[in-house]
Amino acid sequence: MIDFELEPQVVERAKFFRSVAEHLMRPISRHYDEHEHEEPRRFIETTWQGAARERQGGADAGAERKSAPRNLLTTIMTEELCWGDAGLFLSIPGPGLGGAAVSAAGTAEQKERFLRRFKDGEPKWGAMAITEPGCGSDSAAVTTTARREGDYWVLNGTKIFCTSGMRALEKSDGFVVVWATVDKNAGRAGIKPFVVDHGTPGASIIRVENKLGIRASDTAAILLDNCRLPLDHVLGSPQVEPSGGFKDVMATFDATRPIVAAMAIGVGRAALDFVRDFLSQQQVEIRYAIAPTRMTALERDFIEMETELEAARLLTWRAAWMLDRGLRNNLEASMAKAKAGAAVTRVTQKAVEIMGPLGYSRKYLLEKWMRDAKINDIFEGTQQINLLIIARRILGYTSKELR
Ligand SMILES: Cc1cc2nc3c(=O)[nH]c(=O)nc-3n(C[C@H](O)[C@H](O)[C@H](O)COP(=O)(O)OP(=O)(O)OC[C@H]3O[C@@H](n4cnc5c(N)ncnc54)[C@H](O)[C@@H]3O)c2cc1C
Repeated sequence: MIDFELEPQVVERAKFFRSVAEHLMRPISRHYDEHEHEEPRRFIETTWQGAARERQGGADAGAERKSAPRNLLTTIMTEELCWGDAGLFLSIPGPGLGGAAVSAAGTAEQKERFLRRFKDGEPKWGAMAITEPGCGSDSAAVTTTARREGDYWVLNGTKIFCTSGMRALEKSDGFVVVWATVDKNAGRAGIKPFVVDHGTPGASIIRVENKLGIRASDTAAILLDNCRLPLDHVLGSPQVEPSGGFKDVMATFDATRPIVAAMAIGVGRAALDFVRDFLSQQQVEIRYAIAPTRMTALERDFIEMETELEAARLLTWRAAWMLDRGLRNNLEASMAKAKAGAAVTRVTQKAVEIMGPLGYSRKYLLEKWMRDAKINDIFEGTQQINLLIIARRILGYTSKELR
């Protein structure tokens, strides 16, 4: 049996996150877009304290909260909060992408050791760094090295475009999971994740990027210059095994691509709601029930935008639902990400087009959502790379056979 209905506790949570988006995020959205490197301190404190209260209340909320499907709930929360503001969403303290890598690649002991810091204290961030000046889409081309020296790993290399990198390394007691090769001759199998803690000598921020969109989010370039780490900071096994290493990168993406897809849907829905409200103020109602031959161009465009987002949402929920059931979702995660990235780019551009000068004006947030949209088609695997993964999985090719 297939059941597309959300459980009541999920619907309740969605309402709560919608209210956070509306009352905490929207009012400060434009300010942090225009003041790119200013820290949204109050927002950070409020969301961190809110999350702490949630954790404490979690025990009282009892079995009902615990039985909620975690990954599905995360995508729903993400959509709601990104309807508020995607850049601010990425600024919310927590384990983030770094936490996803620890969960995908770490042992039970490492998950406990590295993630427990997020339970209390001051706000802190986790981040993940794969991308390098010469390595992005082809993440197997990592050149940062990790060399064993006595009781330490010594890391050398440069990482770029690391989301929350500065907050994780310099502004809090956080960490960055850095992917480095322990044996270049071993190719993908030699690539391992290392936890670089805040304040580790040899790890420093080179710069923070100025960006087109998601400007409230910090995006850092990181230098690893003889950065020494204790031996137990390599996540999982340090052994180079043919099947190991790189599969942890893929497992991390399987968990995070549905979240990026949900980010995209949130931004797209913000734009669509804006257009709907505007049309409604102009007494223009979308006539869903009329024959296509009688429909106006505007009605056709609007319905197409809604359909695109709904299709992306269903793919995203399926990918998250599979993760909640421990099913392999590699294909479905890429489908969700590719569809949602393309949909949000089209929907926000169309929304600006429909609104004309009002869409282009900085008086409204629509032009900002168009700028915030594009990143969803770039990070966590570009549109083209996700289509490549889908083709490989459907046609049964390996990454060497279809590249
Ligand atoms: C704001 C922002 C935040 C980011 N956050 C993080 C982060 O937290 N951690 C991290 O590790 N990285 C992060 N990234 C990096 C991001 O994941 C990469 O930019 C992305 O993977 C693309 O890699 P690249 O920039 O090297 O582009 P390239 O790989 O050089 O790609 C350039 C173009 O070529 C296309 N292309 C490449 N290979 C193929 C192919 N085989 N077939 C068809 N087309 C192809 C791509 O689709 C793209 O259109 C972030 C990037 C940005 C902009």
